[in-house]
Amino acid sequence: MINESLLDKALGAYLGFACGDALGATVEFMSPKQIQRRYGVHRDIIGGGWLALEPGQVTDDTQMSLTLGQAIIDHRGWNPIAVADGFLEWFESDPPDIGNTCRRGLERYRKTGELLGPPREDDAGNGACMRNLPVVLATIKRPDYFIEWSLQQSRITHNHPISDAATLALGCITGQLLNGQTVDACYRVAENLISEYPEFAYCPYPGESSAYIVDTVQTVLHCFFNNEDFESCLTATVNQGGDADTTGALAGMLAGARYGVQNIPKRWLNRLDFTVSDTIHAQTPVLIDIAQCL
Ligand code: MN
Ligand code: MN
Repeated sequence: MINESLLDKALGAYLGFACGDALGATVEFMSPKQIQRRYGVHRDIIGGGWLALEPGQVTDDTQMSLTLGQAIIDHRGWNPIAVADGFLEWFESDPPDIGNTCRRGLERYRKTGELLGPPREDDAGNGACMRNLPVVLATIKRPDYFIEWSLQQSRITHNHPISDAATLALGCITGQLLNGQTVDACYRVAENLISEYPEFAYCPYPGESSAYIVDTVQTVLHCFFNNEDFESCLTATVNQGGDADTTGALAGMLAGARYGVQNIPKRWLNRLDFTVSDTIHAQTPVLIDIAQCL
């Protein structure tokens, strides 16, 4: 029997993530000024962008998350080879977009079968952090598994201490919210991250929102902590431009876990690609059920 408030927040996080991806993709790689000139404030899921998407279509962020979620569900738990195989199968399906670090990692996995790449200075992109939500959902009662699974899925493509730290911090904040903790608990997680890696400090907000994990996390935390509802949090995030689909997705994950699915604007939920929203509705209770059984 699934706790209704947990399901509401978990669906909020997963659907919020996909909405942020679909909303942000329109303005990915634009500057805030360019967005303002073209859209005023960008606040609707209209597709387009450099990928020429249909309205409601999602990108690699959501696709990789769904792939990870499906691998967990298919194996009723953790099987890192199935996760890597899932990512590789997705990569070979010729997706609309894929980050360079993900591509390099999956090419290595295809060639060598190694689940872990060598540490690299340039592995500090946001590609591992962005796809970790299914792990958070499936390990909601098991912090030890949360750390182990998060790091294993991350290092298939990203082997860098600040990518690891960010993946764990954003996942931990999401988990706290799903477990009914207040925003104060989230501040403490952010403070711990910054005390270990001061480069993540987001106050005052430096204003960069690239795919570099530091810029991504600063943007997401700044917008999450300085907005009081789902819609304004996501709107503020994606209007920073840059890696807007990924910052939008991660802000949607946090805001959805905080405010619940009821607070995602209906016009966004109704726009989201039906296959994607059906898959999220199907995966979410199963991932939570797996968490209850671990
Ligand atoms: Mn993307
Ligand atoms: Mn992106």
